[in-house]
Amino acid sequence: MNANYLQTPIAYLKGVGPNRANSLQSELGIHTYQDLINLFPNRYIDKTQYYKINQLQRNSSDVQVIGRLIHLKTVEQKNGKRLVATFKDETGQMELVWFRGQKWIRENLKINTPYVVFGKTNYYNGNFSMPHPEMELLAEHQQGLKVGMQPVYPSTEKLTNKGISNRVINKLIQQLFVDIKGKFTEALSPKIIEELSLLSKSEAMFNIHFPKNQELLAKSQFRLKFEELFYIQLQLIAKNMLHKQRIKGFSFDKVGILFNEFYTNHLPFELTNAQKRVLKEIRFDLGSNAQMNRLLQGDVGSGKTIVALMTMLLAIDNGFQACLMAPTEILANQHFVGIQELLDKMDINIAILTGSVKKSARKIIHEQLESGELDILIGTHALLEDKVIYKNLGIAIVDEQHRFGVAQRSKLWHKNTIPPHVLVMTATPIPRTLAMSLYGDLDISIIDELPPGRKPIKTVHRYDSNRLKVFQFIRDEIAKGRQIYVVYPLIQESEVLDYKDLMDGYESIARDFQQPEYQISIVHGQMKPDDKEFEMQRFVKGETQIMVATTVIEVGVNVPNASVMIIESAERFGLSQLHQLRGRVGRGADQSFCILMTSHKLSTEAKTRLETMVRTNDGFEIAEVDLKLRGPGDLMGTQQSGMLNLKIADIVKDNDILKTARYYALQLLKDDPTLKKDENAPINYTYAQLIKHKNIWKYIS
Ligand code: ADP
Ligand code: MG
Repeated sequence: MNANYLQTPIAYLKGVGPNRANSLQSELGIHTYQDLINLFPNRYIDKTQYYKINQLQRNSSDVQVIGRLIHLKTVEQKNGKRLVATFKDETGQMELVWFRGQKWIRENLKINTPYVVFGKTNYYNGNFSMPHPEMELLAEHQQGLKVGMQPVYPSTEKLTNKGISNRVINKLIQQLFVDIKGKFTEALSPKIIEELSLLSKSEAMFNIHFPKNQELLAKSQFRLKFEELFYIQLQLIAKNMLHKQRIKGFSFDKVGILFNEFYTNHLPFELTNAQKRVLKEIRFDLGSNAQMNRLLQGDVGSGKTIVALMTMLLAIDNGFQACLMAPTEILANQHFVGIQELLDKMDINIAILTGSVKKSARKIIHEQLESGELDILIGTHALLEDKVIYKNLGIAIVDEQHRFGVAQRSKLWHKNTIPPHVLVMTATPIPRTLAMSLYGDLDISIIDELPPGRKPIKTVHRYDSNRLKVFQFIRDEIAKGRQIYVVYPLIQESEVLDYKDLMDGYESIARDFQQPEYQISIVHGQMKPDDKEFEMQRFVKGETQIMVATTVIEVGVNVPNASVMIIESAERFGLSQLHQLRGRVGRGADQSFCILMTSHKLSTEAKTRLETMVRTNDGFEIAEVDLKLRGPGDLMGTQQSGMLNLKIADIVKDNDILKTARYYALQLLKDDPTLKKDENAPINYTYAQLIKHKNIWKYIS
């Protein structure tokens, strides 16, 4: 169908008009015919099937059963009355349940008369029940129009209130199909269609809205998901290629004196193979003429810092400055101290800049930075301030990048007229293809190996009622010379209560672990940075054995002698947070432990999280579970959510299709970068249309 025709404003469609057009626009973002035709059903009700009661499965949704009502009764409960009917067919019986409108139902339902009931079933204690079923007398049902697979479109309460029901939307789409005679312009090349045995665009569009049967529905879903993901990938890959051609970067062609000196004389351990591989990837980028934009993923404790440091040395070797930005002062300080120590014997100037650096000291840093005297600047968000001007920043590294927004990352870009190379690091692993799609034009490196000799952390789940035993365990570990973290949740919405929990917890620990035998540190967000740092240092130096803290210690803190992590109210933490916290221990040679303390009241999801933590130490496995539990939206934060605004594909569930789509997009651009070959005309045309109507930009930040 003519693409211009599909751009007609929705108000012109027969049966719409200005009022309905307004509602469709504001509620579903439907502005044009095209938008309407691309409104895909959320699900389908299969009314071709009738179930017998003994065929029902746990949690079946949308099942249709024929039977008779044999009994009706009202059941009184604490939380109100409900009406319960016994419903029977020749294979068994189930219950129909109503919580509302009981009077009307009691007066109108006919006992012992065949009905067709339709709804979602629940299963409890060996019995099926169906709350608030749709009911129709069998006699009437048999006279009615037969519908097969009935599409259910996305909707909102407002739309329903305005009379734009599912049926209305369905009719409008039918109208459109009639208008365009069911013909759609093919959007993929014959080659791709053939190789993947895809339905044609027209067949797929028809069957997504009016499926003839399950099989055709599945094929049209596959075809349309593939197409959607294919065009996103095409755009992302094209953007990345263009970026590499256009954005010139500094070429660090020397692997010079400092890098080699550090590698030969000061590296305190042998790099793991994964670290070596990643360094190679980075060196290759830095030596090419394009600006590097690389994401380094590596589980907690996998040794990202040393990679960051050696990358900075490459910059300095080539006459440039480097900076490293961390999300918290504690972490920035720790990097500063650690890196200073590692570079102790070398002639390199390092400074730290955070919110709490005094004005006078700040001024000196600013000056030395501009004159080029400073080689490495480490710090927090303070690095982004306008006053921070470099002589020649060659590389900017961002640690725990998920803590920063896209805007902050891009600020670093503008610290030079030629943008510096950028390396962002994260310990929140994301499955690779997902990361490639979400982070668009970032290249990706992964450290998938921990330094040798690490013993897996033993993780257990204990209830609050076992606290005495846990305290005894702490005492034993301290007696062996170990140190202990005790972490409390702190969530903004419940901040006051959370602080109370923290202080109560601290007091109870202080009662059981008395001075002078035991020393306790406490660190939380309401303390002054200096005090925090002081307490932190006491723990780092081993002057205190127990560190009571809120999640401020979540990221990056490195105290190898700490071997026990106790997480209070662990049920309130998300999986990735739990994993990050656990990563604070297991850094030394000793066996480390993580104890997840909870109350007895646990949701199913919380149980899954705890079981996952107890079962595995593998960050990628944990990330997969997290993704399944929470969906990708939460995981990525809002900045990347554009990509998740998909019409039909689901970036997690359809990961395999995503991989296929990416593969085909890559092959296509390799083979025909300008899309000028005849066979690729459908793709060239569709791509141009997408860009012209900016549809594709919705997906890409
Ligand atoms: P993360 O990836 O979580 O930032 P770090 O860089 O803080 O991890 O490294 C964790 C610990 O492992 C540090 O104490 C570091 O010195 C040590 N480490 C890093 N790489 C190696 C290695 N190849 N061999 C032994 N220890 C290493
Ligand atoms: Mg780190």
